[in-house]
Amino acid sequence: MPEFDLIERLRSRIRERGDVPLGIGDDAALVQPPPGEQLAITTDTLNSGVHFPPETLPADLGWKTLAVNLSDLAAMGAQPRWCTLSLSLPREDAAWLSAFADGFIALADAHGIALVGGDTTRGPLSTSVTAIGSVVPGGALRRDGAQVGDQIWVTGQPGEAAAALALWQAGRLDVTQVAGEPVHERLRQRLLRPSPRVQAGLRLRGLAHACVDISDGLLADLGHVCARSGVGAELSLPALPPISAPLATAPAQLHAWQLGGGDDYELCFTAAPTRHEAIVQALGSAGVAATPIGRIVSGHGIVVRDQAGHPWQPPRQGYQHFVG
Ligand code: ADP
Ligand code: MG
Repeated sequence: MPEFDLIERLRSRIRERGDVPLGIGDDAALVQPPPGEQLAITTDTLNSGVHFPPETLPADLGWKTLAVNLSDLAAMGAQPRWCTLSLSLPREDAAWLSAFADGFIALADAHGIALVGGDTTRGPLSTSVTAIGSVVPGGALRRDGAQVGDQIWVTGQPGEAAAALALWQAGRLDVTQVAGEPVHERLRQRLLRPSPRVQAGLRLRGLAHACVDISDGLLADLGHVCARSGVGAELSLPALPPISAPLATAPAQLHAWQLGGGDDYELCFTAAPTRHEAIVQALGSAGVAATPIGRIVSGHGIVVRDQAGHPWQPPRQGYQHFVG
C-alpha cells in the first residue's frame, strides 16, 4: 500500500490556510474555529456494492464521498471548513488513487473545505469522510423547527438519481461512460456527481424553520422533519418538480422516484409562507431552483394528494438497496 505516496500526493495538492495551523502529517490535525461559532460535525461512509456500483470510476467516487457529507453540512446551514478521509482499499493502485484525489479535491476546492487528515487501510473498498462546518449559535437549520402552516419546499428535481439507478439496474446505463442519450447522461451525472446545496443552505439561515437533505427519499427525509418537529405534512403530487426520465416511464414510477428515491442530495425545508419571495430570491442568487410542494399541518405523518385531492399511496418508500 503506497500509503505515504498517497498522503504526500494529497498534501501537495492542498493549499495552506489560516484556519489549519497543522494539517496532514502529524498524529492529529489542529484547526482554528472562528471565534464564537459552533461546529457542525457529520460522517458518512460509502461501501462498494451497497452505496455505489462497484465499477464506479474513482474520480466519481472521490467526488461523491465528499458530496454526501457536504450535503449534510448544507442541510444544517453550516459553512464547510475541514474534513478527514478514511479509505479502505483492496489493493495498491496509484492511478486509482490519483483519480480519486482528482474528484475529491475538485469538489473540496469548489466549497473551500480543507482536507486535514484521515486514515488508509487495506480491506474491501469503502470510503468515509468526516466533515466539519461552522455556524453562529442559533443559526443552524435543524430538523425540529417545522411549524404548522409552513410551506414545504424542495430544491432541484428529487427522483433523478433513482431514475439513474433504475436504468443501471436494468443494464441500460453504463456508469463508467458518457451516455449517448442526453437524458441518460443527465441522470448519470445526477447519480455520480450530486451537487451539495451548500450555498442554498447558507442562504436559508434565518428564512427556513427546518431543513433536511434528501439522501433516503423525500418522504423518508421529510418524515424525519415531521417526527422531530411533532407535526404532519400534506404534499401535492402535481406540485412536485418534474424530473428527467427515460422515455415511456409510467407516471406511477415517476412519482415513486420523486417521493421515494434516494441519493439526490437536494434540500427539503419548511418556512413561513410570508417568506416565499425572499426564499425564491435567496436561492435564485445561489443558482438553485426551489419548488413549494406542500404544507406542514398539525398531527403526524405525511399525506400525498393527487390532482383531484385524493390521497395517493406511494408504491414504495425510502431507501432501496440496489444490490441483493
Ligand atoms: P497514525 O498512525 O498516527 O494514525 P497515519 O500513519 O495513519 O498516522 O497517518 C499519517 C498522517 O497522514 C496523519 O496526519 C493522517 O491524518 C494522514 N492520513 C492518512 N491517511 C489519509 C487519507 N486517506 N487522507 C488524508 N490524510 C490521511
Ligand atoms: Mg492511522
